Amino acid sequence: MTMSLHDTIAAIATAPGTGGIGIIRMSGPDAAAILMRVFRPAGKNQDIPESHRLVYGKLTDGEQIIDECMAVIMKAPRSYTREDVAEIQLHGGRYVINKALELCLKAGARLAEAGEFTRRAFLNGRVDLSQAESVMEMISARGEQEHRAAVRQMNGGASSFVRKFSDELYGLQAGLAACIDYPEEISDEEGAGSLREGLEKLIEGLEKAMDEHASRLIYQGLQVALIGRPNVGKSSLLNALLGEDRAIVTNIPGTTRDTVHGEMTLNGFRVQLTDTAGIHETNDPVERIGVARSEKARREADASLLILDGSQPLDADDVELLRNFNGEGAVVINKTDLPQKITEADIHDIRKDMTCMTVSALDQESLQPLRDFLAGYVQVSDQQAVTQPRHLDAIRRAVRHLRDAEKTLDSFTPDVAATDLQAAQAALSEITGDSADEKLLDKVFSQFCVGK
Ligand code: GDP
Ligand code: ZN
Repeated sequence: MTMSLHDTIAAIATAPGTGGIGIIRMSGPDAAAILMRVFRPAGKNQDIPESHRLVYGKLTDGEQIIDECMAVIMKAPRSYTREDVAEIQLHGGRYVINKALELCLKAGARLAEAGEFTRRAFLNGRVDLSQAESVMEMISARGEQEHRAAVRQMNGGASSFVRKFSDELYGLQAGLAACIDYPEEISDEEGAGSLREGLEKLIEGLEKAMDEHASRLIYQGLQVALIGRPNVGKSSLLNALLGEDRAIVTNIPGTTRDTVHGEMTLNGFRVQLTDTAGIHETNDPVERIGVARSEKARREADASLLILDGSQPLDADDVELLRNFNGEGAVVINKTDLPQKITEADIHDIRKDMTCMTVSALDQESLQPLRDFLAGYVQVSDQQAVTQPRHLDAIRRAVRHLRDAEKTLDSFTPDVAATDLQAAQAALSEITGDSADEKLLDKVFSQFCVGK
């Protein structure tokens, strides 16, 4: 997509459908002029309204009044895009808003592409690329922590990190260039030695700046698998934790044949619970698939809860599941409202390393320790680390190029190392967009909605 900054774009800025208010937004050199072709201020004064001043008037197609409305002009550079911006606030009806947009387009505006307003804000230097992205992330945040990450980014969190590393890298590039240009002045050994040291430090710093665990928690949530043999109460516990009837609960063993998912929120993070089919040997083909899926869910989970039925003595399946349990998680003895045949001590006789809890799916209060246990997995320190997936990818690539540079330094081919450093610098600058090409910008902004 190639776009000119010389035309004026228009879009409906409010959500589709009928609302209390609908807003048309325009940006570009003719925004004010186009506005005045479709808008008549009330009263005698028909001049272009003063900047940043909301004016009451009427939207007209030249013959007919379409709606009463408010309009505002925000002269460059004091606007979202740093261009002249005009907005029309209308009564929220679908017809009126579409009509207003159509009038603006007829009056000389071009329909904006997805994310084009924010793209202009970026191209005009009002925000860097990671800040522009954060606008979209703010809108699409599904939870408190995702929203917080977007706010951090909007305030330049990732950018300040990257700029610091990028500066360090420029220093190394300059040092390497000196080695190449004046090999007689800087003995190769010495020059290469300090370069290698600088590279090590930079790689270490970049690796420390990435928080992949927090990233996963923020953007994907915590995956928890409920495992256990049929009828121990996995579905019931899932429903009790979610507070809704998500899984089918029956007392016929093996009823949950497919995996059932549900989502709850802990510490502002999304926690996805997967109720797996009973893990047991079976010849029923439908059930077999369920069992396979449950194995998969368990492998992919961040934590698993091994559910046992406390009203029944431990059977061979339970013991096998206990013995084979690996990874994060806990043992949950369910049905404590019934007379108990299993104690925590029995569990610890088999696995003394495992956390064990007793609950009843029928008693919400008894589930609190389990909620607290899961909440322990969703804590990230609020420190400024890089967590946004696109940024992580860019840093990972930068690190790879830096490692390549280390290797080429070892083989005394400094000009190859220089190319590697350049590639690392390019990867870093993708984050802030300092050297972003059209393709990268298209990729980032195409995820926006029109009107943003
Ligand atoms: P799943 O096969 O592991 O998913 O087990 P279900 O959730 O389908 O439960 C099997 C049976 O145990 C159902 O009849 C539930 O009502 C019952 N059940 C589940 N949890 C409890 C509990 O904490 N106390 C009692 N008394 N019954 C429970
Ligand atoms: Zn079930």
